[in-house]
Amino acid sequence: MTFSYETLGRDAEAETWTASIASHSLKAAVAQGEPQSVLLTLLELTGRQDFADRWAMHITGPNPWDHTFSEADLQQLRSELTAVLLDRFSSNQALTPTEGETDVDGLIDLAQGTPLSKTYHRLAKKEMGLEPDTVGWTKKRPDRAEDVRVAIIGAGPSGITAAIRMQHLGLNFTLFDSAEDFGGTWLHNTYPGCGVDIASHYFSFSYAPNPDWSRYYAKQPEILDYLKKTAESAGLRRHTKFGTEVVAAKFDERDHAWHLTLHSEDGVVSNVSAEILITATGLLSAPRIPDFPGLADFRGLKFHAAQWDHSVDYAGKRVALIGTGASANQIGPTIAPEVDQLTVFQRSAQWNIGVANYLQSVSAGEKWLLANVPEYQRWFRLRTMLSQNDSLRSAAEVDPQWDADDDSISAANAQMREILTQYIKDELGDRQDLLPMALPDYPPFTKRMLRDNGWYRMMRRENVSVVAGRDISFTERGIIDDNGVEHSVDMAVFATGFDASRPLGTLQITGRDGCTIRDIWGDDDPRAHYGITVPGFPNLFVLYGPNTNIGTGGSIILQAETWSRYAAEAIVHMIEHEAAEIECRPEAMQKYNQAMDERLAGMIWSVSKGSTWYRNASGRVVTNMPWSTPEYWEMTQQVRLEDYELSDYNGNRMPTKQTTQIESS
Ligand SMILES: Cc1cc2nc3c(=O)[nH]c(=O)nc-3n(C[C@H](O)[C@H](O)[C@H](O)COP(=O)(O)OP(=O)(O)OC[C@H]3O[C@@H](n4cnc5c(N)ncnc54)[C@H](O)[C@@H]3O)c2cc1C
Repeated sequence: MTFSYETLGRDAEAETWTASIASHSLKAAVAQGEPQSVLLTLLELTGRQDFADRWAMHITGPNPWDHTFSEADLQQLRSELTAVLLDRFSSNQALTPTEGETDVDGLIDLAQGTPLSKTYHRLAKKEMGLEPDTVGWTKKRPDRAEDVRVAIIGAGPSGITAAIRMQHLGLNFTLFDSAEDFGGTWLHNTYPGCGVDIASHYFSFSYAPNPDWSRYYAKQPEILDYLKKTAESAGLRRHTKFGTEVVAAKFDERDHAWHLTLHSEDGVVSNVSAEILITATGLLSAPRIPDFPGLADFRGLKFHAAQWDHSVDYAGKRVALIGTGASANQIGPTIAPEVDQLTVFQRSAQWNIGVANYLQSVSAGEKWLLANVPEYQRWFRLRTMLSQNDSLRSAAEVDPQWDADDDSISAANAQMREILTQYIKDELGDRQDLLPMALPDYPPFTKRMLRDNGWYRMMRRENVSVVAGRDISFTERGIIDDNGVEHSVDMAVFATGFDASRPLGTLQITGRDGCTIRDIWGDDDPRAHYGITVPGFPNLFVLYGPNTNIGTGGSIILQAETWSRYAAEAIVHMIEHEAAEIECRPEAMQKYNQAMDERLAGMIWSVSKGSTWYRNASGRVVTNMPWSTPEYWEMTQQVRLEDYELSDYNGNRMPTKQTTQIESS
C-alpha cells in the first residue's frame, strides 16, 4: 500500500470508462451537477475557448452552487457536457489525464473567479490529486531505515495521515491511542447533531476523496466511518495498539531514542522505545468543565458534550445546555424539539453565519458524477476548498488605518457585523425581543465563526430559553443564572470546550537534560518551530501543535497532511544523513515565532476585547496561526536543514548544508 491518490482515493480503473450507461441516466446526473464544476469539467475535457467565452463570466466566486447562469444557458451547458461524456462512454474510450494539454492553472483561476498565486496553483493541484504529495527517499532507501522505529500517539486524522506517510517510507511504525478505534475527535464526539462546519468534500484527505458524502456538511457517524475506512484500507490496524494510553515519553541521549510508558485498559504498564516520536494527540481532545460552585451537590445527570452519555434519554426532560460555542450550536437545535424544556446558559452570544447548503443532502446525480467523472470530482473539491479557505479573512485582519468608534477592526469587519446582525434579525422574525440575548457584543471573528445550525429558530421555540450564564452556580436540583434565578433541570450538558491552550497535556514529555515540555511551555504558553518541532526535544514532531489551528476558515485535514509531510521530510533528512538525532535550532524557532507574533498582532484574536479560547491566561494567542492556508502550506513544504542540528551516534554535531529554496510566489 502506498500513500497515493490512486490507490487510496479511488479504484484506478475509475479513470477508465468501461461500463455502459443509458443516455437519459447520464443526462439526469449532469443535470444535478454543480453548474460551475460542470463548466470547468467541460472546459478541461474539450479545451474549447468558445465555451469559456460564453460562460466563464458566470463564475463570479468560488462558492459551490452560487451561480448566475440563466436556465437556458444551464441547459445548453449541461447538454454539451452530456454529449462529451456520452461520446466517451459509447466509444469506450479511456479518459486520459488531460492536464498535459489543458491550461489547468487558468482553469484554477477560473474556479476562483480571480487569478491566484503560483503557490495556490500548486496547492490546488495537490488537493485535486494532480500533483503528488508524497515524501520519499531521494536515492535508494538507506539500509539504516530498517532500524528506525516510529511511535505515533493518536489515531485521529493527524495520526492516520502520519502513519500513511511512515508506511510509504517503509518505516517500522506503531500507532497508539487510548481509545478503542480510529477517528480521534470524530470517535469521541457523538453528541446529537455533531458534524463538520467545514464542507466535507474538502474536509477529507486529498488522497482519499469520498464521492459518497450524503450531505455537503456531513454528520459525525459518516465522518467516523470515512476515517475508519481510510485507515483500514491503508492497512493501519495491524500497526495500531488501541486502548493504550501513552502516559510518558522520555528521550534518552545514550541510545538516541524515545522511551514510552504505556498504560493499557486492563491496568498493565509496559514500555516501548522508538527513535522517532510523532504526537498527534489533538488540540480539542481534553474536555474541560469549569469548576462551577455547587457542582458536586447537583443530583441530576451531567456530562460533557464530548462524553455524551447515550444511556440517557433526553426526550421529555428539562435539559440545561451550558455554553453556546460550536458544539452547543449543533446540540441545541437538534435536541430542542424533543426535550420538555431547554435552558441555555450563555456566557456570550456567538456570531452564526448562514450557509446555503449547510443542511442540504447531495443528490444521487451529483454523487454519481463525483464517483465516475474524475474531472468533476476534482473541480468540485477545488471549488469547495476555495470557498472555505480564508474566505472572509479580510474581516479578521486589523486595518491600522481604520478609525471607528465601535470596536470593529476594519471596514470589512464592520460590514460583516452589519450583515450578520441583519441575518440574526431576519432569523428571529417576530421575536425581536430575543435580540439582546442573540446579538454578540464583540466584533465577528473574535471567536470561531459558527455555521448556523438553526440557533435563532431554536431560540424562538416555546420550550427554549437562553439565559445569562456567565457566573452560574449549581444547587441540588438546578442552576442559578446571573440574575439569581434558579432553573430546575433534570440533566446538565457541558458544552464548555476543551483544554486547548495546553497541547501535549495528556502525557509527560521529557527531552534533553531531563527538561519536560511543561518546563518550557508552562501550563499554557507553548511555542514550536512552525508549530511542529521544539529545541531540546530531538526526533519529536508535534502535529496540531502551537499556533497551527486555522482561525479564518480552512480544513484541519489539509493541515494534518502538511504537518505530517514536514515531519516525514525531516525524518528522511535524518536517516539519509546517517544522523542519530535531528533537533530544531533555538534561533530558527525564535525567528519563526518572532515573524509569527508580528503577524498575529494584526489579527482580531489578539486585539478584540471579547473572550476567546484562542488566547491563554496571559492573553497571547496560542492556538491559531496568523497565516493563510496557502502561506503556511508554502512555508512548510520544505524542511530547511539550516534550521536543524544533526548529531551522529557519538553525540557529535554534524555539518549541515544550506537547503536550496523552492521557488515561491
Ligand atoms: C466537535 C468538533 C467539531 C470539529 N469540527 C471541525 C471541522 O468542521 N473542521 C475542522 O477542520 N476541524 C474541526 N474540528 C477540529 C478537530 O479537532 C479536527 O477535525 C481533527 O479531528 C484533529 O485531528 P487530530 O488527529 O489532530 O486530533 P484528534 O482528532 O483530537 O485525535 C487525537 C487522538 O489522540 C488520542 N490521544 C490523546 N492523548 C493520548 C495519549 N496520551 N495516549 C494515547 N492516545 C492519546 C485521543 O484519544 C484521540 O483519539 C472539530 C473538533 C471538534 C471537537
